[in-house]
Amino acid sequence: MTEFELIARWFARPAATDERVVLGIGDDCALLAPRPGRELAISTDMLVAGRHFFVDADPESLGWKTLAVNLSDLAAMGARPIAFTLALALPEVDAPWLDGFASGLFACADRFDCALVGGDTTRGPLNLCVTVFGDVATGRALRRDGARAGDDVWVSGRVGDAALALHRLRTGDAALDAALRDALERPMPAIALGLALKGLATSAIDVSDGLAQDLRHILDGSTVGASIEPTALPISQQLASADEQLRLRCALAGGDDYVLCFTAPASRRDDVQRAADASATRVTRLGRIEAEPGLRYVTAAGMPFAFASTDALQGYDHFA
Ligand code: ADP
Ligand code: MG
Repeated sequence: MTEFELIARWFARPAATDERVVLGIGDDCALLAPRPGRELAISTDMLVAGRHFFVDADPESLGWKTLAVNLSDLAAMGARPIAFTLALALPEVDAPWLDGFASGLFACADRFDCALVGGDTTRGPLNLCVTVFGDVATGRALRRDGARAGDDVWVSGRVGDAALALHRLRTGDAALDAALRDALERPMPAIALGLALKGLATSAIDVSDGLAQDLRHILDGSTVGASIEPTALPISQQLASADEQLRLRCALAGGDDYVLCFTAPASRRDDVQRAADASATRVTRLGRIEAEPGLRYVTAAGMPFAFASTDALQGYDHFA
């Protein structure tokens, strides 16, 4: 099979009838029509076999996740998805694998109205790289530099289940149920919430490397600090029944959550709740932005939170 036959069979779907995409797969470039009064939001994420996923991972879920993790970056900016490209290195043409991968990929693309408009295909160690394009009204993107002392710190969805799933897969000490497996393999990007938070959130980030580390990016970007309550973290029943060290490590430093951590003025709590309800997303208030730099963990009464062990509270770093 040639490279072109592979693209035609698995990736070139009938041209999208979308006024935003002028030209999709097949030419030297895709053509997108920029809309007046809006800024382009662009992000790339690469998934490497053996590093970001197990080589024998379910291809359908992997297809979903490859696009979902990129859409999560658009969500964190409050951007609306438009299109994406896919750069693919494959060790061989494995038809059942490509069937599954393409089906998961397009399920995610259709769910979030994001067209595949191009890419590159080559032989090599399995590597999946998506670049996603979205747009947002000029000057309205949710950035990392807008948090102010007195703002609330919020998180969407639940944290820690993906890390708990990974922990269980690695230790092999318990079977994964569907909910835990989905948390790891089929993350749901918070696109609707990101859109609803525009004009409301003062900053936002998507949680991919662990809540603590990603919140620190907001704190650094905004030159502020924060106090958050570990007991307020939204976690599943399964994670709640893990011992404290595993529980807090998964929830605060686990990664792969693809939820949004954001800040908003305390005066707008009701509006945040309404935005969350409107986008059918759960949100939880974790604490408060403060002028003093650094991230502090406190009890509900505002006293320092006593960790059994803090050595696991570092987020994921590929080069650490
Ligand atoms: P070029 O030689 O100009 O780089 P290619 O021969 O690599 O073009 O690709 C031919 C067409 O197929 C281009 O429009 C390209 O964007 C598209 N394409 C290549 N690989 C993929 C892929 N994995 N998914 C979607 N489109 C792809
Ligand atoms: Mg090429």
